[in-house]
Amino acid sequence: MKKRFYITTPIYYPSAKLHIGHAYCTTLCDVLARSKRERGYETYFLTGADEHGLKIEKNAEAKGVTPQAFVDEIVEGFFKLWDLLKITNDDFIRTTQARHEHVVQTAFTRMLNKGDIYLGKYEGWYCRYCEAFWTDTQVGKDHICPDCNREVQKAEEEAYFFKTGKYVDSLLKFYDENPKFLIPESRKNEMINTFIKPGLEDLCVSRTSFSWGVPVLENKKHVVYVWLDALTNYISALGYCSDNEELFKKFWQDEDTEIIHILGADITRFHAIYWPMFLESLGLRKPDREFVHGLLMMKDSKMSKSKGNVVDPYPLVERYGVDAVRYYLTREINFGSDGSFSPEQFVERINADLANSYGNLLNRTISMIGKYFDGAIPEYKGQVSEFDASLESMIDVTISNYEKAMDDLKITDAIIYVNELVNRANKYIDETTPWALAKDEAKKDELASVMNHLARAIYVASRLYHPVLVTASDKAFEQLGLTSSGYENINDKHLLDNLKTVKGNPLFPRLDPNVEVPFINGLMAK
Ligand SMILES: [Zn+2]
Repeated sequence: MKKRFYITTPIYYPSAKLHIGHAYCTTLCDVLARSKRERGYETYFLTGADEHGLKIEKNAEAKGVTPQAFVDEIVEGFFKLWDLLKITNDDFIRTTQARHEHVVQTAFTRMLNKGDIYLGKYEGWYCRYCEAFWTDTQVGKDHICPDCNREVQKAEEEAYFFKTGKYVDSLLKFYDENPKFLIPESRKNEMINTFIKPGLEDLCVSRTSFSWGVPVLENKKHVVYVWLDALTNYISALGYCSDNEELFKKFWQDEDTEIIHILGADITRFHAIYWPMFLESLGLRKPDREFVHGLLMMKDSKMSKSKGNVVDPYPLVERYGVDAVRYYLTREINFGSDGSFSPEQFVERINADLANSYGNLLNRTISMIGKYFDGAIPEYKGQVSEFDASLESMIDVTISNYEKAMDDLKITDAIIYVNELVNRANKYIDETTPWALAKDEAKKDELASVMNHLARAIYVASRLYHPVLVTASDKAFEQLGLTSSGYENINDKHLLDNLKTVKGNPLFPRLDPNVEVPFINGLMAK
């Protein structure tokens, strides 16, 4: 296992407010980053905004503001949402920042001087009204502008291109040597069979038909087009080509850093094909893993504003709390597969896993320790009964399964392991019947051991849930009487000895489906 960890979300396009799909990707990255950080890995977590392009230029114009003012306002909303979701990103890169534009221009110049970029002609479907080029797929077989529905014409403009042909063999070799680079693995075959084998075209990296972009220094009527601008955010944020390359050296160039990009399926091609080529052209190492997460659907149909089925994450967090939303996203949608959001599942998931299972375990245990031992957690005295032995071994196995799953980016599996431990601990109460042990003075040691083991199961579960349940886990620690402890104490069986528990409110009050399902449906209505 490498000793450092660099994780990124895609940079989001600020043409409209963020929806739950963005919240999903960023939350999952945050869970991974928190988990690594807690386990002692030096971690850097980046997110940001991709602020250039024609669409933003036009949206700003329609609103009567400058493109910069337009994106500034929307990006303010990004900050608010990440704050609300308690996202712990170390930096937020904006492609309109000078530090980023400098890197894009430097990279462009290096590639141009190396002969990897050349001036050619871009041919596409042009809408005179929108002054925009569109691709074959965008205009469809009727050749209609997707923006204004007017007819488009074939047209040409001068543009710079990146020579992909020069790097194809090396990319295929890289795929072969790094079978875990692209996850899920099926994506690699898609890249090869759909894009590379039929013949990869050179990539257009500049435009003259709009001006909201990073100017090409060598030819000022051009701005750098989309991917060369957007993808370099992963290194510009670390200070590549700046006066201070310390972060860049540490989190990118050092082979002891594991570099992970998390991304959506629609941008896989750019991350898996062009990004490694750009990096090779610049003489830089490639990321270790690119993980393509699934699509978050709304009740089995794709989220879309016109369908009125987009759920706004803000009111959801405000009503149910950050932990419930983070938990739902992590647990309900299997990381890497497509998933769907539904109000019924949301309420059911919170009630079953958090209120009835985890919250209830804590509540019952703290009550019993209060009743039988005056609120002090009995000392660990080894395994008094076979039930103790069984619970203890489950705790150890859970920790190791959880760590392995997190390292493999199987976040949903990791959380399921913790849920299983919580269920096991609830069952352990039924097996050991503390209320019966309490009636028999001769069983006092046995009862004490049961309370100690229960407290420890709760402690370990809360420690492992912590990257997801960022506030509830801390409340559970407080109720156990722990003032400070970290992941490094997870295997310490005496950690809880004699701690004075504090009875608190239920962590997750049960939600009434008859009230909450209509409420969430209301949020999703147009
Ligand atoms: Zn048009």
